[in-house]
Amino acid sequence: MTALIPDAIRKTRTIEQIVTGVATSDGAGVSLTRVLTGRLQQRLDPFLMLDAFGSDDPHDYIAGFPDHPHRGFETITYMLSGRMRHRDSAGHEGLLENGGVQWMTAGRGVIHSEIPEQENGVMEGFQLWLNLPAASKMAEPWYRDFPAVAIPEYRTSEGVEVRVIAGGSNGVAGAVTRDTTDPIYLDVHLPAGTTFATAIPTTHNAFVYVYRGAVNISGTRIESQRMGILHNAADSDGVIIQADSAARLILVAGQPLHEPIVQYGPFVMNTQQQIHQALDDFRNGRFN
Ligand code: MN
Repeated sequence: MTALIPDAIRKTRTIEQIVTGVATSDGAGVSLTRVLTGRLQQRLDPFLMLDAFGSDDPHDYIAGFPDHPHRGFETITYMLSGRMRHRDSAGHEGLLENGGVQWMTAGRGVIHSEIPEQENGVMEGFQLWLNLPAASKMAEPWYRDFPAVAIPEYRTSEGVEVRVIAGGSNGVAGAVTRDTTDPIYLDVHLPAGTTFATAIPTTHNAFVYVYRGAVNISGTRIESQRMGILHNAADSDGVIIQADSAARLILVAGQPLHEPIVQYGPFVMNTQQQIHQALDDFRNGRFN
């Protein structure tokens, strides 16, 4: 826990749109909900995808994600509950466990696997894809595991507990900071009857995803398993979130890149030609 320097919020953002995720399957047959889909990539630039997974049925997760490539962006996996092993072609390996975060910069390319190390019990968490600026898409791959104890946390005077995965909130710096996209990634636990406020730069695109209970933002109710896209306005310098009953959510925000987005599955580049190059490099073993 760290001493708080409360963010002064003049005016909260409002909710522009509520999004229901799409049930789908990925990897070798993992059931998940795709909350941020392709049609929202421009609106939520620099974020490309958000998957929510959560099940106590091993059939939904046991197959995991065997070897597959990525190029041109970063993957951030936040495990609320469960155990998953990561291995990649850049020689990185790690075990992601309850409350931990894995941050991988694919850059010019990695081949990796993400395989559960549990045969029963609950597996629950999120995978977020954060775009890289054009100038960094071919950077060297980077990887780091943050066990739960390495994620900075704070508690407000009302008892709201906040885990700061990236960026900063109320004076507390997160585990990761990034130039250019300047991402903020918070996990916020609100007891019943509490209010939480945090600053968000006005130019950042931002959303919340509620995964327990329900919250109110500027008079709009957001139920569990719903994303609320936060409206951008020049005079709205943060967000104020109210919970009548206990609720949990993630809050994600970042500075948009305003660059072309061309995606082909696990490759996200700026031009079609760069996608063809990625496929050619992958097929000819140039990702190692
Ligand atoms: Mn992957």
